[in-house]
Amino acid sequence: MRWRPSSQSQIEDRRGSGGFGGMSGLGMGGGGIPIPVGGGIGGIVLVIIIFIVLQFVGGSGLGGGSQGGTTGSLDPKDEMGQFVNAVTVDVQTFWDQEFADAGQSYSNTVTVLFTDGTQTGCGAASSATGPFYCPADKKVYLDPGFFDELTTRFGAKGDFARAYVIAHEYGHHVQDLLGTMDQVQQQQTSSNANELSIRLELQADCLAGMWANWVMAHPDQSDVESITDQDVTDGLNAAAAVGDDRIQEQATGTIDKESWTHGSSEQRMKWFNTGFKQGSLQACDTFGASSP
Ligand SMILES: [Zn+2]
Repeated sequence: MRWRPSSQSQIEDRRGSGGFGGMSGLGMGGGGIPIPVGGGIGGIVLVIIIFIVLQFVGGSGLGGGSQGGTTGSLDPKDEMGQFVNAVTVDVQTFWDQEFADAGQSYSNTVTVLFTDGTQTGCGAASSATGPFYCPADKKVYLDPGFFDELTTRFGAKGDFARAYVIAHEYGHHVQDLLGTMDQVQQQQTSSNANELSIRLELQADCLAGMWANWVMAHPDQSDVESITDQDVTDGLNAAAAVGDDRIQEQATGTIDKESWTHGSSEQRMKWFNTGFKQGSLQACDTFGASSP
């Protein structure tokens, strides 16, 4: 995977800011959406405090860096920060074009980088939560430490495995903008909640595959300059590595299909590949498929 640091900044860098006693053990696994945990007033107050502090120190992070060239002190200078930023900008460049082609408008958001714990519109998050998208504040949250875990614990290596994780979370942002996330929330009952969650997650995998299709078809056009067949294999491996069956087997030695929320390794690979091969939203209709 060939990439270059982006001239735009779509990162909100909270690394090293100490965290706020994040809530661990939500058991999200890779690429989860956290269930809003009530947070309430305390959470809102903390977010406001963070906002004020960031304003005070001249940060440019909050409020979405949709325009290029913001050079606040929070722009990442390290390679990891630049990598996450480049992928974020690239994925959003793709979706911006895709929405425009369909006569709709995409709204840019940011990836919040944090270490240990941070406060989000969906409650407190810790590194143990895993990367996630919060529909309440429309931001993607990521502790880059997860990438080490992806390699050591889940056995998925390569830059593109990491890029897939970011693209998956932006798939949730797209689902949010398209209203899919709301529809799922309205339809969820105690008996179909996991089934709908799996379809939502597999669709996010498919949307990540659509981005990979676009990068492959347009080398040198954007910040992620090109990917190879090996990268696609790394992406598929990562999708398999965060399958519910794989994670459960690793953690407990048994597989309990009823408790799945993201889909099996095979399903996740299948839908990433569907998006990659077909490159269209229609192909990513995991809700219409009789068995996804
Ligand atoms: Zn997800």
